Amino acid sequence: MERLGRTMATISHSRSAFIHGQWTSADSASLYGVSDWGKGYVGVNPDGHVTVMPTKDPAKNIDLFEVVQGLKERGIHTPVLLRFNDILNHRLREIRKAFDDAMTDQQYTGGYSCVYPIKVNQQRHVCEQIASLAVELNFGLEAGSKPELLAVLGLSAVAGGPGVNGMPIICNGFKDDEFIETVILATKLGRNIIPVVEKFSELELIVKHAKAYGVRPKIGLRVKLSSRGAGRWEGSAGVRSKFGLFVSEVLKAVEYLKKHEMLDCLNLLHCHVGSQLYDIRVLKNAINELAHIYIELHRMGAGLTMLDIGGGMGVDYDGSQSAWSSSINYSVAEYASDVVYRIKSVVEQAGVPHPMILSESGRAMVAYSSVLIMDVLGTSRFDNNPDLEGVDATIKAETAGGGEVPQPVLDLVDAYKNLTDRNLLEAYHDATQARDEAMSLFSLGYMSLPMRGVAERLFWAIGHKLLEKAAKKGDLPDELEQLPDLLSDIYFCNFSLFQSMPDSWAIDQLFPILPIHRLNEQPTRMGILGDITCDSDGKVDHFVDKRVDKKTLELHEVRELPGEAIGVEPYYLGVFLLGAYQEILGDLHNLLGDTHAVHISLDDRGEWEIEEVIEGDTVEEVLRYVQYDVEDLKRAMRLDIEAACRQQRLTLAEGKSLLKYYDDGLEGYTYLEG
Ligand SMILES: *Cc1c(COP(=O)(O)O)cnc(C)c1O
Repeated sequence: MERLGRTMATISHSRSAFIHGQWTSADSASLYGVSDWGKGYVGVNPDGHVTVMPTKDPAKNIDLFEVVQGLKERGIHTPVLLRFNDILNHRLREIRKAFDDAMTDQQYTGGYSCVYPIKVNQQRHVCEQIASLAVELNFGLEAGSKPELLAVLGLSAVAGGPGVNGMPIICNGFKDDEFIETVILATKLGRNIIPVVEKFSELELIVKHAKAYGVRPKIGLRVKLSSRGAGRWEGSAGVRSKFGLFVSEVLKAVEYLKKHEMLDCLNLLHCHVGSQLYDIRVLKNAINELAHIYIELHRMGAGLTMLDIGGGMGVDYDGSQSAWSSSINYSVAEYASDVVYRIKSVVEQAGVPHPMILSESGRAMVAYSSVLIMDVLGTSRFDNNPDLEGVDATIKAETAGGGEVPQPVLDLVDAYKNLTDRNLLEAYHDATQARDEAMSLFSLGYMSLPMRGVAERLFWAIGHKLLEKAAKKGDLPDELEQLPDLLSDIYFCNFSLFQSMPDSWAIDQLFPILPIHRLNEQPTRMGILGDITCDSDGKVDHFVDKRVDKKTLELHEVRELPGEAIGVEPYYLGVFLLGAYQEILGDLHNLLGDTHAVHISLDDRGEWEIEEVIEGDTVEEVLRYVQYDVEDLKRAMRLDIEAACRQQRLTLAEGKSLLKYYDDGLEGYTYLEG
């Protein structure tokens, strides 16, 4: 989809706010599109703080800034991941209700179950909560690997209590002999477990173990559809997909099962067209094809009762409700209604009973439930105030010995002084040319470093003055469109992109980001975000917006601490919709570990409370992970410090302090703690 280039949207926005006077929280909410992507879970209160409404009831809200203060008082420092179990709960019920409504409306009698693919977020707390709700909502769990299978078998035992447990358990992914044997034994145990055959040999293993243990297993087949997927994961479907059986193999499977008198065990047909399906049409085509295969196999005598449409229900990360990779062009209700409608039309025409519909919607279940809060450590910005006196002083000092002021510098001074509303473009061209000339002079050895500094400062000052004037006129010439991004600030934030939002780096996924306080104050800066890894990729320079490809974010001036103190006043940003995939895909780049995670809920009186604190990795833990022996490290440091003290390079007290910092550091958080 074609996205508009950067426009004057942001500049004219702040301008109009300036005209109508007092900036309010509502202005911020609209500026950051909070209601577009927040879908009722996120808001801004009159204090200018972001709130989370776990049940979409505005009266029951949690003030995130208050939470961060509360955590600070308990010694829990940002970055911290906040999880809202109540959002998870609400989201699961929303999906349940959407399908219940669709089935009632369309008199669909087959039933529906959503199975949670734990790969989306395997954290025990998240899975346990889903498993316990699954019992009530008739949902299930999905495993895609051996470790996930073992987790899911345990989880379903806990959730259902001892004895037979009807929660559907779907096993996708590649399976070996042991995997299948475990599944067959679990069937004997009473689990409603369905291995989905991804390649033919798995079917042979299933039949082998089923016979050996005298079990009638429920078997699923994953089909390679000819309908292509779309977007980033289009390769999940189509005949070149890594997974599933060709139709010719499906037919072979039917023959094979018939031969072994197990065709009645073929209960489920499965496809997965890809994640974050942004265009509902892709799903409709795939389901149509899958349903047709279903009725054909039904005719051949397969004991089919379940149609599993896989995952892919998307999340509207940017709030634009469009067919675009960070958005989706449908609602949960529409998704449900289209799925039910497609399946119903195909099977009814063939006179086949309505199948039980399963979907494996992972992302859509969990994305909303986590938010990362991080603190800003400081900013880097180009001078917009050229300090003409300083410039003059440098020029005087540099020419004191009778040298001349280089022509490009004179040109820049002129361009700055003579900038008027009418000659914006001309001034820009002159300034660019003069700057380029200054840089060549420097490279050729004809300009000193301080003089080059002067040229640089003048150039940025001209840029800022140009933008100010353009904003007043309300239009920015095309050629100057890059300028706001070039002149924007860098806000350094205490987090690792690779650990906390890896998809931002890996696949340019957008996540909504905004300050969680000061929202009744007009943001006056534009910036991008940098993390604390020493990787230049560790930055966020694309932001959600309904209309434009937004390369900078509106932010507030970060205030220096008063007096002698070094540092800045606390300024917190929230990154939203991080519940799906980010936690487990996160890596230890620069040995920055898991952040703290805190579970927040509302009590009966509507006060927020901490349900659980899961401490982030310590330095010791991440070092052990890469095979360091922490005791060895300490011993080496101790010996070295001893020697330094002996040779009087360190005093005993200094040595003691250094050793203490070393030991404390090992036990501490991997992030900066101010
Ligand atoms: C990853 C995956 C899912 C989950 O997809 P979402 O987009 O998170 O809904 C479901 N089924 C299979 C087979 C998968 O590989």
